[in-house]
Amino acid sequence: MAMIDRSAMRSCTYGMYIVSSVLENRSVGCVVNTFMQVTSTPLCASIAINKENYTTKAILESGKFEVVALAESASMDFIGAFGYKSSKDIDKFASIKSAVSAQGLQYPTEHVVAHFSLKVSQTLDLGTHWYIVGEIVESQVLSEEKAMSYSYYHEVKGGKTPPRASSYDPEEENEAFEEQDSTQAIKWRCKICGYEVVADELPDDFSCPLCGAGKAYFERVELA
Ligand code: FE
Repeated sequence: MAMIDRSAMRSCTYGMYIVSSVLENRSVGCVVNTFMQVTSTPLCASIAINKENYTTKAILESGKFEVVALAESASMDFIGAFGYKSSKDIDKFASIKSAVSAQGLQYPTEHVVAHFSLKVSQTLDLGTHWYIVGEIVESQVLSEEKAMSYSYYHEVKGGKTPPRASSYDPEEENEAFEEQDSTQAIKWRCKICGYEVVADELPDDFSCPLCGAGKAYFERVELA
């Protein structure tokens, strides 16, 4: 009988990207690991992006988007700000350095190695996600730094895969739970991004190192 071993999916390699667009005159963006070149002539690339993302609505309505490849130097704060919060609630561009492309869209310019401007050419409904193909109308290298791979994000940065990501693995959280070897009986889990802290109590001014959510967003989890 055929079986599905989800851990086989971990052999797939990806990069880390911020996708941005505009909705109702506001710049919006999020993190994806699914950007890739698909054809050379014309020069096209694609992303798979969750339908619930505010940025997805922006891309489909405007018909254009920007992509930047993240550098290994990008901090978890930076990634978390774009990756876990919704553009519906906050202005993700408020506190970062950015530029405006020829097609009029804002994109981050710090901690990035390359930039691409795309016009949507095709879309495919994948149920939970839209698969979006775009023609690259502008691109440039922004730094000589090394691009961050998805495995670097996981292994070096300690990053997690949120439920809306294409590569989300429902079994991964359970494994992380089992790997805990602390003698403490209490941990706290961020309801926004899933980040976990082993501690009896969190300080009042605590904020999630991964997504920035405050103490109120942490739920208590009994380990014992
Ligand atoms: Fe968090």
